[in-house]
Amino acid sequence: MEKREQLYEGKAKVIFATDNPDLLIQYFKDDATAFNGVKKGTITDKGVVNNLVAGKLMTILDAVGIPVHFVRQLNDREQLIRRVEIIPVEVVIRNVVAGSMARRLGLDEGQQLPRPILEFYYKADALDDPLVIRDHVLVFGWATEDELHWIETTCRRINDVLIAFFANIGIRLVDYKLEFGRLHGEVGKVVLADEISPDTCRLWDLTTGEKLDKDRFRRDLGGVVEAYQEVARRMGVTSKTS
Ligand code: UDP
Repeated sequence: MEKREQLYEGKAKVIFATDNPDLLIQYFKDDATAFNGVKKGTITDKGVVNNLVAGKLMTILDAVGIPVHFVRQLNDREQLIRRVEIIPVEVVIRNVVAGSMARRLGLDEGQQLPRPILEFYYKADALDDPLVIRDHVLVFGWATEDELHWIETTCRRINDVLIAFFANIGIRLVDYKLEFGRLHGEVGKVVLADEISPDTCRLWDLTTGEKLDKDRFRRDLGGVVEAYQEVARRMGVTSKTS
């Protein structure tokens, strides 16, 4: 497998073509952004940690039958993925009140929800990724009824698996964002795409409540690198550099 030209550069990752039109390389950068790019910084070796953490989580989900775009880890910063057309809807799954939902509804962070909440955000940087409802997704054709139904069911399955996985390593899975894509060349097949990592999740230590995720960067709490590496360490994925 041969690495070819760069196709896309996002805030945290770079995508490269390969000699196989159905496969891409996803490269994880150390760049960190928050508040839709307003706050910028670098977190040393974040790309390495996120690559390893995301790869492991995708492997766990694949093993329980969730279709994923992840194929395999290539090195410390790169993974081979299947090419997808990203569905322009971010799904946020919430198990505990935090972040934008706490602000929007005037709630204190930390309240356990009686059941998970699924929210949809329209992927549009110029609009700051607005919160949308199910009907927006369908009526504007961002996803079909079948796709959306499958995504909702799959999110609930993923949530059950991830809550249990993180609880087992002493971490409370507060909330996180998922993205899905349509497989290139396979009509009608949707898979979990992008990444699941401390950049895209709120992860709190189960006993102390300490934040082990990007909120340390967003809220200037310090110990950002250490928090990301602690998640990797508990997951048993450590790199040569950490
Ligand atoms: N999230 C993300 N990318 C986004 C927006 C949110 O990964 O563009 C994640 C975020 O890390 C958190 C969850 O989704 O784990 C919910 O985020 P929230 O809506 O609370 O927004 P925030 O307060 O983080 O901006």
